[in-house]
Amino acid sequence: MSLEKHMDADVIVVGAGLAGLVATAELTNAGLRVLLVDQESEANLGGQAHWSLGGLFMVNTPEQRRMGIKDSPELAMQDWLGSAGFDRDVHDPAGEDFWGHRWAEAYVDFASGEKRSWLHGLGLRWVPLVGWAERGGYLADGHGNSVPRFHLTWGTGPGVVAPFEQAVRDAHDAGLVTFAFRHRVDRLEKSGGASTA
Ligand SMILES: Cc1cc2nc3c(=O)[nH]c(=O)nc-3n(C[C@H](O)[C@H](O)[C@H](O)COP(=O)(O)OP(=O)(O)OC[C@H]3O[C@@H](n4cnc5c(N)ncnc54)[C@H](O)[C@@H]3O)c2cc1C
Repeated sequence: MSLEKHMDADVIVVGAGLAGLVATAELTNAGLRVLLVDQESEANLGGQAHWSLGGLFMVNTPEQRRMGIKDSPELAMQDWLGSAGFDRDVHDPAGEDFWGHRWAEAYVDFASGEKRSWLHGLGLRWVPLVGWAERGGYLADGHGNSVPRFHLTWGTGPGVVAPFEQAVRDAHDAGLVTFAFRHRVDRLEKSGGASTA
């Protein structure tokens, strides 16, 4: 079904799971108008994250230090590389491992940097007992987390979704977001270099 009747948006976000809600919240914070499309109903807002445990991967946090866990971005990157097993040239932009490696670097940087303070500023809090999910192997250069990094959010998954859902609903009330629930995107049509829906 064409979405033209809905609105002429600056950005179309497909999926109202956590990724779509965060993207929409950030876009509307910047004053852009968003058409947020999801194949499910409004009751599914938040997607999988609503049902999740809300355990967040973060590196070298106060919660870890309080438990005596020594973590660092370097150790987290080593663990990531142990799991990813990149075996092609990660410096070759045309190579298959290039963007995976760049993503790993960027995410470890985020998880050991602004991730906690950003989410803390949005009201998220974590259980002071850091869990050890995806523990993996037993050697430091093997797969999995070599130290506990699973920060369980107060309120579990719904607690993670809440500030982003609220921001998106506020933006909707302000006229910046149009919801299109029960709409499944099956193709993107391009004209003039832009996707139209
Ligand atoms: C029970 C459970 C526990 C979990 N616990 C944790 C945890 O503790 N820690 C952790 O880090 N992760 C956990 N996860 C994983 C985490 O919840 C997901 O990785 C994350 O929520 C994915 O978010 P997303 O927005 O990328 O995708 P989704 O939540 O899958 O959202 C995608 C949305 O896009 C919509 N969609 C898809 N295709 C189309 C289409 N063609 N047209 C329109 N709409 C479409 C879907 O309906 C859906 O609403 C858990 C997952 C589950 C199920």
